Amino acid sequence: MPNTIFDIGLDRNAANFVPLSPISFLVRSARVWPERTAVVHGPRRFTYAAMLERCRRFASALAARGIGRGDTVAVLAPNTPAMLEAHYAIPMTGGVICAINTRLDAATVAFILDHSEARVFLVDQELAPLAATALAMARNKPFVIDIADDAAPSNVPVGAIEYEAFLAAGDPAHTVRLPDDEWDAISLGYTSGTTGDPKGVVCHHRGAHLNAVANVLGFGITAESVYLWTLPMFHCNGWTYTWGITLAGGTHVCLRRVDPALIFPLIEQEGVTHMCGAPVVMTMLIHAPAGVRRGLSRNVKIATGGAAPPTAVIAGMEALGFEVTHLYGLTEVYGPATFCAWQPGVAEMSVEDRARFTSRQGVPSHMLEDATVMTPEMRRVPADTATMGELMLRGNTVMKGYLKNPTATEKAFAGGWFHTGDLGVIHPDSYIEIRDRSKDIIISGGENISSLEVEEVLFRHPDIMEAAVVAHPDKHWGEVPHAFVTPKPGREASLSADDVIAFCRQHLARYKVPKHVTFGPLPKTSTGKIQKFELRRRTAG
Ligand code: ADP
Repeated sequence: MPNTIFDIGLDRNAANFVPLSPISFLVRSARVWPERTAVVHGPRRFTYAAMLERCRRFASALAARGIGRGDTVAVLAPNTPAMLEAHYAIPMTGGVICAINTRLDAATVAFILDHSEARVFLVDQELAPLAATALAMARNKPFVIDIADDAAPSNVPVGAIEYEAFLAAGDPAHTVRLPDDEWDAISLGYTSGTTGDPKGVVCHHRGAHLNAVANVLGFGITAESVYLWTLPMFHCNGWTYTWGITLAGGTHVCLRRVDPALIFPLIEQEGVTHMCGAPVVMTMLIHAPAGVRRGLSRNVKIATGGAAPPTAVIAGMEALGFEVTHLYGLTEVYGPATFCAWQPGVAEMSVEDRARFTSRQGVPSHMLEDATVMTPEMRRVPADTATMGELMLRGNTVMKGYLKNPTATEKAFAGGWFHTGDLGVIHPDSYIEIRDRSKDIIISGGENISSLEVEEVLFRHPDIMEAAVVAHPDKHWGEVPHAFVTPKPGREASLSADDVIAFCRQHLARYKVPKHVTFGPLPKTSTGKIQKFELRRRTAG
């Protein structure tokens, strides 16, 4: 390429190029708002100045134990200050945070400790028994730190030192260092691994920084925001809100357990403005017992994702006074990657129309380059709401790849796009709507049936609280839909399989109507997804 007048050595230098990292967010907020409340945990309160000082101590104590660039530090904890601080202190050392799902079994935690080669392992006292079993099974033996908490059940400690003592030995003036390269790993998050060993998703500082910015913009977070931690921080680093709330200078309100009896009072006491959660969290709030459920004295925004939110659930949350933002994403893209941006006029729509609009997965979030739906030949489908294909994503907020798994990495990035494994359509207004995960679609007599479409109808039944639909093997049709239904409290006795089938007949094409109905609670993952593989196992048996 010929030189231009600008090709005269105007190169990057320390003054004009700084690696993007969410570490910078904390440093800035501590400078701008040293006295503002950064973290609330029951009676405990930390200002931004205190949060930075604690993270400096934590980072220096980790560094003193030899933690540096590329070393994994695993954390097994609910949403507490220590878990939040880990999101800054570990990256400050150059280390990689591996936040482990707290509802995993010991064998999987042991697998993660081995696979991630964790050198340090922080364990909340409530989870000490799980950690002890996992540590006994793991070949790798990390240095273990106990996190004590007055609000947690006490257990026999498993570590060599308690977290506050570990911090006390750290240097409060420790120099904060950014990575030399923004492409360095910042976090390692394991997918649920329903079909084998979980895959370790490696994310970088640059992507974490950019996705946190996108989430702040998309969800309207400001310095006045008070964010309640109803989403597990271990789930894609709390969809990057662990970093985003700090960027805005808002307040993090910690929460050990997703329980409506804790959530409704905290919303009032702390003046909560924003929270996140899977659709099951919304269902839990809508169906909380009358004495627990409260209308809100002011508007609270909830961002939901992780699974498709049925329109009836969105409308139910609006009735309680919440405003619902819909996000879609995966661990591989730092959590949320698309969101259903409201257009002018949506706020004025009827509740039903707005819920229908919002139930779509939407458009690329601010920092994602592109999201589209493609055929197996990698051609974009027409925006006709009908042609189905696989949702593909590309941009700066896509993972580096899977740890120690080049085959899976190559497959995920084939053709220069990240393949999500989700099937969807594009609407004429360019909004994407997911119809199913590719493994959940039901193929009956050669016709595709979207399990989400059938669930959408079931959720509208006045006596149904929750429902999931999976394929049931059938001699004649190959597969037929099987509905698993949880009735609303008090409706268990009156709702019959015939009622459910008759209701579906009124609202669905005949071939989409479930042929089997089973009542009872639905098995869920800790990130609020219904375990369809478990339901499929039941239909096969
Ligand atoms: P896991 O694979 O362990 O469930 P993720 O949390 O990364 O881990 O899950 C990502 C998947 O969750 C997506 O591929 C998609 O199937 C589903 N998902 C996430 N958000 C939504 C949403 N808003 N609507 C529909 N499905 C969603």
